[in-house]
Amino acid sequence: MTGDAIRIEGLRKTYAGGKEALKGIDLAIPTGSIFGLLGPNGAGKSTLINILAGLVLKTSGHVTIWGWDQDRNPRQSRASIGVMPQELNLDPFFSPRDALEVQAGLYGVPKNRRRSDEILEMVGLTDKADAYARTLSGGMRRRLLLGKALVHHPHILVLDEPTAGVDIELRQMLWSNVRKLNRERGMTIILTTHYLEEAEEMCDEIAIINQGAVVARDSTRNLLGQLDAKTMVIEPVSAPETLPQGPGITIERRDGGLIALSYHASQTTAEDVLELVRGAGIRIRDVRTEQADLEDVFLELTRSRPAA
Ligand code: ADP
Ligand code: MG
Repeated sequence: MTGDAIRIEGLRKTYAGGKEALKGIDLAIPTGSIFGLLGPNGAGKSTLINILAGLVLKTSGHVTIWGWDQDRNPRQSRASIGVMPQELNLDPFFSPRDALEVQAGLYGVPKNRRRSDEILEMVGLTDKADAYARTLSGGMRRRLLLGKALVHHPHILVLDEPTAGVDIELRQMLWSNVRKLNRERGMTIILTTHYLEEAEEMCDEIAIINQGAVVARDSTRNLLGQLDAKTMVIEPVSAPETLPQGPGITIERRDGGLIALSYHASQTTAEDVLELVRGAGIRIRDVRTEQADLEDVFLELTRSRPAA
């Protein structure tokens, strides 16, 4: 499949209590990408993912999964996508092998196309294949959920906060699996994460959602590239009465007598900034620089928006 693995148009969700969780989302997710869906708690990420998974009913809008309209072709669109949910909902009396077999049954995967052993191996649960789920650690349960998302060989894998609260080892194991599925099988990956560094490292493209709306959507490189914004923070020997002004440099006072000078590295050099400061007769006791990362874009875009 070329083009978009998922197309979302005008997607809205209002929960029964009246909470408007999605306020008209338009989003296209390219086939073969690792796509990051970022946003603060309560932004609507899980709602969106659960709609894709067919677990939550949308209020209005269109969702197309792997070319299948979710309303007109629910079976095919469901078969195209595997979802690892945020919640650890597992039947405590099923072993990992049972859980995979039952899931495969639910998706109508014929016995001869089931790959339970392979999946158990991949998620590192071969040793625990026949243990009760209730005896599995949190990390093992998460791995089993990943395995369950894969039983029907979906084209698209969706991971909702897969690494929230997991240790580094499991996190690395999850990411290496995800990368492998993407590279070797061309699987399209959609993930939400709280760890922006992780998104920066893993994702080709990113959408940031806030209060049920997409506030940014670009390649990770472009999003970071927008940010050639830098800030030099100076501690003056003594606080100046007035602040100097220079083209392309925004100057403001910070707590503790500090002075912050923000500029764009593509237009202004650190030397220009220092010259401005020295030219104003300000003596520098200490200096540090701050560089924007995804966290800054994120904060910038999700900060102080009036609740609608
Ligand atoms: P995120 O995953 O980005 O943290 P969610 O999609 O879980 O956000 O939630 C978005 C908003 O919808 C939140 O305000 C949340 O409280 C609300 N919400 C989520 N699930 C339900 C539900 N089942 N019923 C009512 N409100 C819900
Ligand atoms: Mg969530």
